[in-house]
Amino acid sequence: MVRVLGIPFANLTTFEVVQHGKQYLADDKPHVIITAGPEFVMQALANSSLLAIVKKADLITPDGIGIVLAAKWYGTPLKERVTGVELTSQLIAYAAQAGLRVYLLGASQDALQAAIETLKKQHPMLMLAGRNGYFTEEDTEAVIQSIKTFAPHLLLVGLGQPKQDQFIDRYRDELHIPLAMGVGGTIDVLAGKVKRAPQFFQKAKLEWFYRLCKEPRRFRRQLALPIFAWRAFRDAVGTRARQ
Ligand code: UDP
Repeated sequence: MVRVLGIPFANLTTFEVVQHGKQYLADDKPHVIITAGPEFVMQALANSSLLAIVKKADLITPDGIGIVLAAKWYGTPLKERVTGVELTSQLIAYAAQAGLRVYLLGASQDALQAAIETLKKQHPMLMLAGRNGYFTEEDTEAVIQSIKTFAPHLLLVGLGQPKQDQFIDRYRDELHIPLAMGVGGTIDVLAGKVKRAPQFFQKAKLEWFYRLCKEPRRFRRQLALPIFAWRAFRDAVGTRARQ
């Protein structure tokens, strides 16, 4: 476990997180994985009920190079960045092979449809259902019923953060799904609507910059990044001075 601004991140590789995920999928109790980047950490620190949700998760993975960098400042480096996109494709591949049901909740109807088609092509045996992520409070009961009827082993919720994590927490006990995970814009990535940054940007740890150029509306959200860096740096220096 590595703490960054008090948030306990699992110090595991993507492969190791998937192994944990497989154990959760075989378990009778509900489990939650949260993938958290710097923006989400800042949201959680500003909202005590969200922070409580984060601390209840079975695993929190560092989904952002900012978290990996900050962990180094604390003198407790993390093994690697573990993204929601990567976990999603590996857990879905496992579910297809193990005969487990997967439910995708989120994104526009077009993106959801395209993502389902892509996944069915990749994994013809996959038991997959889904619902787009645009529904009102009144429709929520019908959404919950549709998930209950399908009874997935794996629920992937792409409603954006923190909405998806609040949704999972609110219905965790009622739905009683072995593994639920918030996946942000992953359904759009699966649909081919949003491309991950080219390898060059990923390797240079500049994926955030690539996304900013492609989607300038993210600028406001990315303002959280320098604030995160400053707070984490100060906290890391303080933590190391006390050791
Ligand atoms: N979304 C949704 N319902 C909403 C708001 C957002 O399904 O009410 C979807 C949106 O279509 C997108 C995802 O949530 O697929 C959020 O993607 P974004 O890249 O903003 O999330 P991040 O990965 O940065 O958390």
